Amino acid sequence: MIWNLLIVLCAFIGMELFSGFFHKYIMHGILWRIHKTHHVHGKGFFELNDIFSLTFGAIATLLVLLGSEGFDWRFWVGIGIITYGAVYFVVHDIFIHRRIKWIEHSNLRYLQALRRAHKAHHAYTECNPGEEYGLLWIGKKYWSK
Ligand SMILES: [Zn+2]
Ligand SMILES: [Zn+2]
Repeated sequence: MIWNLLIVLCAFIGMELFSGFFHKYIMHGILWRIHKTHHVHGKGFFELNDIFSLTFGAIATLLVLLGSEGFDWRFWVGIGIITYGAVYFVVHDIFIHRRIKWIEHSNLRYLQALRRAHKAHHAYTECNPGEEYGLLWIGKKYWSK
């Protein structure tokens, strides 16, 4: 069991690293036309950028299904990605962007710093340059007001 939890944890941390990389070099690169819909806000609830979450969700679901017979590593990697996706959705879509009006404020310094870091990312509306591409692992400077 401990190994499975370790796989979940590694997948979770791996997703933060991977998504930071993917965000910086792919979304703010060749796929900027899609990601742009998240930086330049339209009025609708959905944005074309949601396609990324859907794709990662589909890959994770597939891994869970493929690994569900013997609960092998694919199952746990899928669980790790889904957990990351859920945290990402709550922090990024609900807490920071308030797509659903649920969590308005937080006294947690970490969450305040996260929001500050991501708002700094959104201060840029062009493909390049930019800053703070990761979500949960943020630079030190955002911790102080
Ligand atoms: Zn971006
Ligand atoms: Zn955002």
